[in-house]
Amino acid sequence: MGSDVEFSNVKGTRDILPEDALVWRRIEEVIRKKMREYNYQELQMPTFEYTELFRKSTGKDTDVFQKEMYTFKDKGGRSLALKPEGTPSVVRMYLQHGMKSRGVFQKFYYIERMFRQEKPQKGRLREFRSFGAEAIGSKSALTDAELIKSALDIMDELGIKGIEVKINSIGCQKCRKEFMKEFKKFLQQKLDSLCEDCQRRFTTNPMRIMDCKVDKRKLIDAPVPLDYLCDDCRRHFSELEKHLDYLEIDYKVDTFLARGLDYYTRTVFEFIHSELGAQDAVGGGGRYDGLIKFLGGKDAPASGYAMGMDRMLLLMPKVKEYREIDIYIVTLDVKSDIIGWELLYKLRENGFSADKDCLGRSPKAQFREADRQNATWTIIIGGEERKKGVVQLKRMKTGKQKEVPLDIEAIKREIKC
Ligand SMILES: [Zn+2]
Ligand SMILES: [Zn+2]
Repeated sequence: MGSDVEFSNVKGTRDILPEDALVWRRIEEVIRKKMREYNYQELQMPTFEYTELFRKSTGKDTDVFQKEMYTFKDKGGRSLALKPEGTPSVVRMYLQHGMKSRGVFQKFYYIERMFRQEKPQKGRLREFRSFGAEAIGSKSALTDAELIKSALDIMDELGIKGIEVKINSIGCQKCRKEFMKEFKKFLQQKLDSLCEDCQRRFTTNPMRIMDCKVDKRKLIDAPVPLDYLCDDCRRHFSELEKHLDYLEIDYKVDTFLARGLDYYTRTVFEFIHSELGAQDAVGGGGRYDGLIKFLGGKDAPASGYAMGMDRMLLLMPKVKEYREIDIYIVTLDVKSDIIGWELLYKLRENGFSADKDCLGRSPKAQFREADRQNATWTIIIGGEERKKGVVQLKRMKTGKQKEVPLDIEAIKREIKC
């Protein structure tokens, strides 16, 4: 970059140039295709919400809410927040629009930009792209397995190899109490040796201590939720394992996996990849059976996940995406140029991507431009062609050239065969 650049993009944001946009579009296309196969419907959500929504759902004691959210007051003095994750908005939309009346079980997905004020690092931006899937109305472990499979399918289609699936169950409100009592007892003895964050979490969000990367070693002997599951939760977890086996999905049970958010119940899962280093999750999710009721709705079980698309991009094989246009028109003189313009708009009306020179460049420069634009065909019009009422149609790849009447139907016929 030249030093004469006065402005640059804000730290943690990403500029997407045309060649990158092609890759991003492909990622989105694969997601939409797969989500359609799985019968998930798209939701599009606002960029910001009332801060209160996230305080209540993401959780006021989570890192996301406490440290990472972009909040601001609008001119009416209301506290708003740029959305740091998608699930709260999905649930809000589901409740606000009475979507329950559309069916007891519904599946949604979204592709959205999210915002978190974190330290920018590899694959972790402050404005980032996220896609997520949420299934509302099913408490079955079948749904959890389907969600996991859908994410794996998408990554597979994008050529991402080496994804590891980690699963765990953190129990329900009932059995978690028992676990929490023992876990807190254990932590109490070590509290002074834990990291600063965990000392704070001990009173606010002890669950979060479970997957603290700093204190991992010290927690090796800690009680884990899996050992405290009630019968229902235990059955649910073994069903999940059974379904994953049936779908031939390799997974590891990670008894310390908790995920950082308040609303999870029973199933939690994560997709990890060794290449991402310490920030090794590409995405993850879990079951949130209590959230809908907690936000004021009628009790409904739900489950979902979110994937960091910027991290998926890092893991994708680097394939160069080519932009090409169908037709580039080259004109050899001023009179032909007028005919060229007329033809250009006719081609576009007929669904071709087409372009021509507007800088009055020489024929030679126009041919160079046709090459640079990766045109599949070139149409050449000069004095000879004008007299005969034809154009030269050139297939760029083979160099083969053919005389075709100056008539959109004739050109269409020629290009199609
Ligand atoms: Zn339970
Ligand atoms: Zn810690």
